[in-house]
Amino acid sequence: MFACLFATGCLLLQTAFVPARAAEVRGPDLTWVGHLSGRDHQTYLEVPFLVPRGVERLTLEFSYSGKDQRTTLDLGLRDPVRFRGWSGGNKTRLVVEASDATPSYLSGPLPRGTWKLVIGVPNLRRGVTSDYTARVWFDRSGSDFPGFSSPSDRGAPGWYRGDLHAHTAHSDGSCMSSSGQRVPCPVFKTLQTAQLRKLDFIAITDHNAVSQNQALRELAPFFDTLLILPGREITTFQGHANVWGPTRDLEFQLGTKRAKTFNAILDQVHDAQGLVSINHPQLPSGEACMGCGWTAPTDWSKVDAIEVINGGSLAFQGAEGPMSGIPFWEHLLDRGYRITAVGGSDNHDPDLPVDRPGALGRPTTFVHAEALTQSALLDGIHRGRVFLDVAGLSAPVLEVKAVVGDQAVETGGTLLLRTGDLIHLTVSTAGLPPGAALSARGSALSLAAQRDWPAVSNPTEIVLPFEGTASWLRFDVRDSKGALILLGNPVYLRPAP
Ligand SMILES: [Zn+2]
Ligand SMILES: [Zn+2]
Repeated sequence: MFACLFATGCLLLQTAFVPARAAEVRGPDLTWVGHLSGRDHQTYLEVPFLVPRGVERLTLEFSYSGKDQRTTLDLGLRDPVRFRGWSGGNKTRLVVEASDATPSYLSGPLPRGTWKLVIGVPNLRRGVTSDYTARVWFDRSGSDFPGFSSPSDRGAPGWYRGDLHAHTAHSDGSCMSSSGQRVPCPVFKTLQTAQLRKLDFIAITDHNAVSQNQALRELAPFFDTLLILPGREITTFQGHANVWGPTRDLEFQLGTKRAKTFNAILDQVHDAQGLVSINHPQLPSGEACMGCGWTAPTDWSKVDAIEVINGGSLAFQGAEGPMSGIPFWEHLLDRGYRITAVGGSDNHDPDLPVDRPGALGRPTTFVHAEALTQSALLDGIHRGRVFLDVAGLSAPVLEVKAVVGDQAVETGGTLLLRTGDLIHLTVSTAGLPPGAALSARGSALSLAAQRDWPAVSNPTEIVLPFEGTASWLRFDVRDSKGALILLGNPVYLRPAP
């Protein structure tokens, strides 16, 4: 309990600090209830409060009564060292963390010690009173907050489409300026293009940078139909990997004491509750693309995803060309790893026309999520309920359901089986071009079964026996010429213990 130094009738409640999933779903760590009167007109109150060690994010909400009588209260913040910002009367909620802060406030480390909430009173009439409430949440983890935005009207379970890999001025993204010069491209342009292309989510994954988060924090309220995933592309001399979720500093200097192995990088991302995707693993490393191919020794059991289709590699003979990541991924599936296939445009210019490989949203990654929120989207990727659209279709669907006895799973799920069990598969599709066909792939299939179904009936019912060894099975869709247009993730088949 802290004394409240200035405000009349101010009460400060400080509860035990408990890390939690998200500020919005738990009670605040601190609550002030204050009472002001006309005597406080044109004064400043400084309310001290203690920020514990290890806090990575501070969220503050502020409200007060008396607006109908023209009462106006302003808001600002000081940390133990410096002035952190002043939002006057223009914000009721603010976030301050290491990589970004609500506009009006400065990002940076949150030093332990006594901070001050500064309340200005520009107007409080004589004889009028005002009650105010300030609530503060502390979070330690850089990944458990709900992202820069949570589109409020997108709370339903469903398939959401997005791009998990894009660059801006905060690394090597560029576009044409007003006078026709190629310049570092502002984050705004990428979000604007994503919105125009009707993406539901986007991750800005600049190389090893987190400075883009400040721009994203500012832009998120404007692009309020887009879920913006915090991201970065960990870029090493032995390969590139996207990280989604955390905003905190992460080590990337692989081979130094900061990150002796890539496994150490994987551990720090998971400690921050983020996901890791190995990017464009089959791009050649060399002077044309330094460190682009994947050569780092890796514990694949710790890898969440592989970017099997990258916009850059698409340009070289398509999704299944010599730089495709699909064989790389399938080889790991054959070895028993469970890793989600994702796509990423790796866009470096948001003005690139949509029909070009590497345009924003090309390829598109579809994720089935319980809602369009950061945690639900990351959970959907983790569960493997994902398919990729290579062709830029307007509303494709590719759903797989697998049933054996009382077990029923969907794409990404695992069935526990005995040899000879019959697996009943239902594959549902929609939004496909004429002549499209399902194509089954997997170690679970004999060569005879590993074939295309000549036409897509909807749904397609297939029954296959389990042959006794750990395996995987997935369905893709090909166009009438045999080119891959949708790539599915597997259902995993495992012998029952
Ligand atoms: Zn890369
Ligand atoms: Zn990239």
